[in-house]
Amino acid sequence: MKNITIIGTGYVGLVTGAGMSEFGNKVICVDIDTKKIDDLNAGLIPIYEPGLEEVIKRNFENNRLFFSANIEDSIRRSEVVVIAVGTPQGDNGMADLRYVYSVVDTISQNLNNYKVVCTKSTVPIGTGKEIIKKINNNIQGKKIFDYVSNPEFLREGSAMKDFLWPDRVIIGTDSEKAYKIMCDIYRPLYINKNPITYTSVETAEMIKYASNAFLALKISYINEIANLCELLGADVHDVANAMGQDGRISDKFLHPGPGFGGSCFPKDLEALLAVSKNNKLKMETVKAAITANKNQKKRMTSKLLNLFDNNLNKCTIVVLGLAFKSNTDDIRESAAIDMINFIIDHGGFVNAYDPIANKEMYKIFNNIKYYDNVYNSIKNADGIVIMTEWNEFRSLDLKRIKKIMKGNIVLDTRNILNMDQLSELGFIYDNVGRIKK
Ligand code: NAD
Repeated sequence: MKNITIIGTGYVGLVTGAGMSEFGNKVICVDIDTKKIDDLNAGLIPIYEPGLEEVIKRNFENNRLFFSANIEDSIRRSEVVVIAVGTPQGDNGMADLRYVYSVVDTISQNLNNYKVVCTKSTVPIGTGKEIIKKINNNIQGKKIFDYVSNPEFLREGSAMKDFLWPDRVIIGTDSEKAYKIMCDIYRPLYINKNPITYTSVETAEMIKYASNAFLALKISYINEIANLCELLGADVHDVANAMGQDGRISDKFLHPGPGFGGSCFPKDLEALLAVSKNNKLKMETVKAAITANKNQKKRMTSKLLNLFDNNLNKCTIVVLGLAFKSNTDDIRESAAIDMINFIIDHGGFVNAYDPIANKEMYKIFNNIKYYDNVYNSIKNADGIVIMTEWNEFRSLDLKRIKKIMKGNIVLDTRNILNMDQLSELGFIYDNVGRIKK
């Protein structure tokens, strides 16, 4: 059991804090956003993540999980300090590390005794070395800390499950002492099996970028295959299913769609490309995944325009799904943002509905109409665009929709609606790479 402070109580920090306390550790989650901390202490969970609330509640009540705005004091009371602040895209695609380095300064000023400084944020390869240098400069060489890179692989929407039952845990450090301390934190995970990879800091940092870029590449690849399917009369679902049956390929991340979004893939690919450029190395595959993704988002808006015979003026279009994927309220880099901008730029009106993410999207667009019921959003609309694969949309009552809509146009960018039924009911529709009936 370890005393741990997690700095940054966002998607990763909060899930990590909850998960590490569930493993039996004593965890303080801290943040500069004091409202977030006050809310958490009052039992309000700032993000939507299945299963998270329950784990937080259990560990909070059992005095293993705490929330504090006193970052300095929390660091001083902990043996392990985990950095989990954001690393958004900065200039020229580089990761913006200002939040990480600000936290590193705070940690250096509060190294009252030996601590493991652990980075969970996704940081470019070489950042760990910089962090060690910075802390050493601040503490004038006193050897009272070890550094660990422990990148996080959770997926929003299943983050709690991913954290508690990970495929692998990466521990990058040159200190055996720190490695053992980290193993102790994750102990319940390797009583039955050992998913831990012990490696160097740089390798750990690279594993995170290499994994994300590979998954993004897979999505961009199947999207381009879907686009070619459309031109040649092939069906991408059959193609993807058959590809996925090959164990060397696997069926994961082979779902064609409107282009990937979220707070990770877009910025991580740019950051990897920036690192390779700085090292005068070309990474054409990563560049291609980024370009293909941008093209895919544009392709979706072109599809909508085509369905409306190039005229969206004064048309009311319902955007179903705002989150970048289902089971999350995260809208960062969501393809829905591009779609809404496009409709507005072309003189159309947007009715928006998402089971969870309306409030988040309102921060970007306060000039569209939000609904808390899917059928109300559709009443008298000219067209519908499905942007997120929420389960709720898979079972839409298309008959009822046809009756209450003014128009009959549907763009299904997630391929979740039944094409036979759409045809039978007289909808004019399009999707991504399916054979139309
Ligand atoms: P987030 O924006 O949800 O949360 C970051 C939190 O850090 C915010 O609450 C912010 O207030 C806080 N913060 C910023 N500066 C601070 C400071 N000086 N002191 C204390 N708190 C501070 O970010 P996130 O989505 O949790 O991502 C965090 C990191 O984890 C990023 O590097 C990201 O790339 C990586 N990551 C994210 C995911 C994901 O699915 N979101 C998955 C794996 C890795």
